[in-house]
Amino acid sequence: TSAQIGVTGLAVMGRNLARNFARNGYTVAVHNRTASRTKALVEEFGGEGDFIKAETAEEFVAALERPRRLVIMVKAGEPTDAVIQEFAPLLEPGDMIIDGGNAHFADTRRRERALREQGIHFVGMGVSGGEEGALHGPSIMPGGPTASYDSLGPMLEKISAKAKDGAPCVTHVGPDGAGHFVKMVHNGIEYADMQLIGEAYQLLRDVAGYSPAEIAEIFRIWNQGRLDSYLIEITAEVLSHVDASTGKPFVDVVVDQAEQKGTGRWTVQIALDLGVPVSGIAEAVFARSLSGHAGLREASRELAGPQAVPLGKEEAAAFADRVEQALYASKIVSYTQGFHEIAAGSEEYGWDIDLGAVSSIWRGGCIIRAAFLDRIRAAYDARADLPSLLSDETFAREIADAQDDWREVVIAAVRQGVPTPGFAAALAYYDGLRAERLPAALTQGQRDFFGAHTYRRVDREGAFHTLWGGDRSEASA
Ligand code: NDP
Repeated sequence: TSAQIGVTGLAVMGRNLARNFARNGYTVAVHNRTASRTKALVEEFGGEGDFIKAETAEEFVAALERPRRLVIMVKAGEPTDAVIQEFAPLLEPGDMIIDGGNAHFADTRRRERALREQGIHFVGMGVSGGEEGALHGPSIMPGGPTASYDSLGPMLEKISAKAKDGAPCVTHVGPDGAGHFVKMVHNGIEYADMQLIGEAYQLLRDVAGYSPAEIAEIFRIWNQGRLDSYLIEITAEVLSHVDASTGKPFVDVVVDQAEQKGTGRWTVQIALDLGVPVSGIAEAVFARSLSGHAGLREASRELAGPQAVPLGKEEAAAFADRVEQALYASKIVSYTQGFHEIAAGSEEYGWDIDLGAVSSIWRGGCIIRAAFLDRIRAAYDARADLPSLLSDETFAREIADAQDDWREVVIAAVRQGVPTPGFAAALAYYDGLRAERLPAALTQGQRDFFGAHTYRRVDREGAFHTLWGGDRSEASA
């Protein structure tokens, strides 16, 4: 017998993805650099479906039906190149290599170009949902040649998560690096969501005076409303968890230094290159790096702060409602920024990404899955060329309703010295877009003053320069 699909790289993600294919009735060839992992997988889970164990690359390739579909699930970066170099010479034109790791989309573009010359279809495929998702149904973001999706798509649709309306959480995102790009921005938005939730928690604790267990209850209630999402749900779980060895809230015994693997940072780096303001995502990445500077934080502990004024019981409850508004409004802004980045990437690289389809496949399986994504899809359904999520009537109205509370929350945070870079940056973005006039006019004047960089006028076409060092008359540039 031969396998319809093969998976090489059998750490947590690859193993679970292979099991997911097998549980859905596919015969799966499995391979790993270290053969013991392959053996362990088949010994432990062989009963779940049809696996073909391959020890060598040659055996692995020989086990696959043609055209071959070979999924790579190894560490992103050089290991992925090493594995491609190992397998590509064994493949034939028409075969498909699918990279399910967290590759940088620029690497995916490079690999796709190189393999295309050999006639091999290279599919850079973003996978979200962690190890549970990989096993029970992830959100899948494949890029690569459209033709490859004809044969691969139905298999992915089978193993993917399903949204509440039953739609599979997978779509052909676009050519070459489009899938990995969208996965990258997904992770950037995930960083922003987590930061905003963290700020809400900190405010409820330090300003409203609630305990972690009480905050868990608040999050549980929020999870029944418009904030209904996986991240809010697990936040309640984490906050209500009590450490067994000390009896303290779990959140109080964890070192408060957040780690990162890089996809959030990439989202911001690429946004800088594309000139897209993703301030909320950037603040989330910076907040993690600030938390990690233990020495700097220790040295700064004595810096002056405001006198904290705890709230009374009723005030605290009212404040919690405001925080929900601030969190929701800030969340709209992060998604607005993330989708802007996807639109800009799509434009830059000619990917023609369907933003509505992207929001649709994030509705299930992935870390940012949320009821909210249905509304984003509805916004793009209503108008595919929506210039910004904030231009959608529903979102605009919701933000309008939230803005007074949102501002109050940021004011309270500033007054009480609780850092809320996410809430504040989102609000500044909103006000920046709304502003009739921005101080950018002054910036242009300064640039013209020191560098003769010229400026445009509101009342006439053309570029102008003022003779700042002379009689200050204006010249056409
Ligand atoms: P790791 O990223 O820890 O990678 C381990 C796997 O890579 C092992 O199978 C290992 O083989 C293999 N490997 C490493 N270097 C080489 C090499 N030079 N040649 C051949 N094989 C090599 O595993 P994960 O399962 O966590 O992740 C797999 C991919 O999926 C990564 O790209 C990751 O970023 C991505 N991903 C992970 C998610 C997660 O939640 N963990 C979520 C979404 C994507 P060996 O056993 O021989 O060491």
